[in-house]
Amino acid sequence: MSGQFFFTLLNPAVAAILAVTFLVLWRKRSDQLYLAMLALAFGCSGVAFAINDLLPYFETPASRIAANLMFLVAIASACIGGLLRVGQPVPWRLFAGTSAICAVLFSWYLFVAPSTEARIYVVSAAYVILTSKTVWMLFRATPRGLDWLFVGLSSALLLLAILRPAATLLKQLDINSAGSFRDSAYWATVQAVTPVIAIAMGLAFLFALASRLFDELTAEANRDFLTGLLNRRGFDKGVQKLLGGAPDAAVMIVDIDNFKLVNDTYGHGTGDQVIAAVARVLTKQGEADLVARTGGEEFTLFYRAIQRPTLLEHAEAIRHEMTQTEFPGLPYDRYVTVSMGLHPRIKSESISEMMSAADRALYDAKRAGKDRAVLGAPPLQARAFIHERRVGSRARAV
Ligand code: GH3
Ligand code: MG
Ligand code: MG
Repeated sequence: MSGQFFFTLLNPAVAAILAVTFLVLWRKRSDQLYLAMLALAFGCSGVAFAINDLLPYFETPASRIAANLMFLVAIASACIGGLLRVGQPVPWRLFAGTSAICAVLFSWYLFVAPSTEARIYVVSAAYVILTSKTVWMLFRATPRGLDWLFVGLSSALLLLAILRPAATLLKQLDINSAGSFRDSAYWATVQAVTPVIAIAMGLAFLFALASRLFDELTAEANRDFLTGLLNRRGFDKGVQKLLGGAPDAAVMIVDIDNFKLVNDTYGHGTGDQVIAAVARVLTKQGEADLVARTGGEEFTLFYRAIQRPTLLEHAEAIRHEMTQTEFPGLPYDRYVTVSMGLHPRIKSESISEMMSAADRALYDAKRAGKDRAVLGAPPLQARAFIHERRVGSRARAV
């Protein structure tokens, strides 16, 4: 057994490992079709190399057709995988048309006017069309961050599809027309470069998948499942980003009135639907920077910059919308109301100080008979500060 034989195992082995990896991943995430396309691309590339390098009866018309077909499918699938990953439409007609013309010309230069060189140009031209269209579409999809990796990789495929036939044309890359193509310098470059490209492509897709999963997990960890709003954790993180340098921030705590009665009368399932419906009202009418479900039937809205009258207007809009909302599972004449505690930030209050103040205002709203908004009274030492700022802003206005 020659040393060369072990070298020829490299491509089918790398391709098989990557094909199986992406097949397993696709079975886990069957909604991500690009994973299946990647498995197909690596699978076909592995088979093509196996046909070319390992079959004893190499260089029969059948093996040539099969190997080149597999390479073409591999390149097309990799391109399609890249496009699907970013949600771009696949140019099926161009891909199918190019493949069909390539097949006809390839057969012509195999059976009618046999020429290895002509076949190389035909196949390379097809690769150039597929990869350049992909590069162009990926580029037009306004790539961000990791997406550039895929623009780079498909550009590398495009470059290879141009460089190799160009070198052949310039007689810089021998195709060994007198002997076996398998022993040519041309084929050696394919054997040497493909594993590098395949591994780079596999890693790029794996890296992109991992980063997407990480983003999904983070988003899920910050969201409330029932309402789709931020949960307490997401709210705290969001506030951390927004509170710094926001002197006119404000919070509004919203609590559903007599909610226990809803649960007790109409069941927990209906109670859940009411919570979800209230969440929709708050998202629509609250006009807040952050809307979160911070308790069972309690919500918090955060405003980065808002004046007291506007804050009260939003609270009134929420209250009004509640009277217009039909709640699933409740009789049409059964209203659900909310009480709201409002608190504009004083000096450089922390979020927990703001929330405590809004909570006190909410408590006042409940005590005053519910179905209302109460704007928290600022503590005495802060009133002078607010007065100062009012005077200041009036002076600016003049
Ligand atoms: P108040 O007007 O004073 O706010 O009275 P309330 O009945 O709304 O408040 P209370 O704190 O007595 O009851 C809140 C209820 O909310 C009790 C709890 O079972 C219910 N609850 C908390 N989380 C959920 C949930 O996710 N789904 C449902 N259906 N009920 C929930
Ligand atoms: Mg309540
Ligand atoms: Mg409550």
